Amino acid sequence: MNYRHAYHAGNFADVVKHVILSRIVEYLKRKEQAFRVIDTHAGIGLYDLRGTEADKTGEWTGGIGRVIDAVQKGQVEPQAMELLAPYLEAVHTVNPKGGLRHYPGSPLLTRHLLRKQDRLSALELHPQDAAKLARLFAGDIQVRVIELDGWLSLGAHVPPKEKRGLILVDPPFEKEGEFDRLVDGLVKAYRRFPGGTYAFWYPVKERKETERFSKRLRETGIAKIMQIELAIRAPSPDPRLDGTGMIVINPPYTLESEMQILLPCLTKLLGEEKGSNFSVQWIRGETDRT
Ligand code: SAM
Repeated sequence: MNYRHAYHAGNFADVVKHVILSRIVEYLKRKEQAFRVIDTHAGIGLYDLRGTEADKTGEWTGGIGRVIDAVQKGQVEPQAMELLAPYLEAVHTVNPKGGLRHYPGSPLLTRHLLRKQDRLSALELHPQDAAKLARLFAGDIQVRVIELDGWLSLGAHVPPKEKRGLILVDPPFEKEGEFDRLVDGLVKAYRRFPGGTYAFWYPVKERKETERFSKRLRETGIAKIMQIELAIRAPSPDPRLDGTGMIVINPPYTLESEMQILLPCLTKLLGEEKGSNFSVQWIRGETDRT
């Protein structure tokens, strides 16, 4: 396991992923009943944007750096600002002195959004990262940090005992076959917990690969599969992270319209050139007749 998220924390892909995550959690809070978020590849939870790793790549300057800059200059439309508020609040909370020094990863963002009755299970396989995450949440009875292969949790921890919740799967994509693992993992978990919401992150690098992924997802027969993508540039000739994608199974009914407000705004902020674009489509949905 060579992947270290500290090099990429707060980049454009993190921003889009975390904004989607925040909208799903906010929707779950509309009902009083408790829910659980299971974060299968959690990372360390809090990132120092001026630390050695983040400094080396500077990726966050093209992500959260641009968003905060636009917010401070009042360049974000009110409707988008309203939807971004829970996410931005979490970013502000980890920067109590103002400015932008720290960035919350998915477990810390989720934790910030939970109510008293809600729970988070955060899995991380890298021993040092899992230890850091455990220290971050030490004494917090709403959070369970588990050093374990996140793929196993799709069988072991699903369904959650709350019977409501979100499963976030955000693997590093450092190995071959990660797209197939996503589909296989999803099928396994969905069989056990068909009422859950699932958010699966994937990189947009090679068109052929994502088309094959979409086809396999369609073939699972799962009824509601939404695909959200944002590309910061036109496809590069050599594989490069040109965009970010999220598959959402059983999305909140509000998500599509929220994305139609948020994605144009985020594309404008995060896009590097003319070829930037976004899409929200149903791989299989209620309107799907296939
Ligand atoms: N979800 C995090 C966030 O949004 O802040 C970032 C996660 S990062 C993309 C992927 C993480 O998965 C890394 O911290 C890596 O150590 C961890 N990891 C790699 N393989 C894993 C596995 N099989 N199970 C659990 N964690 C794994």
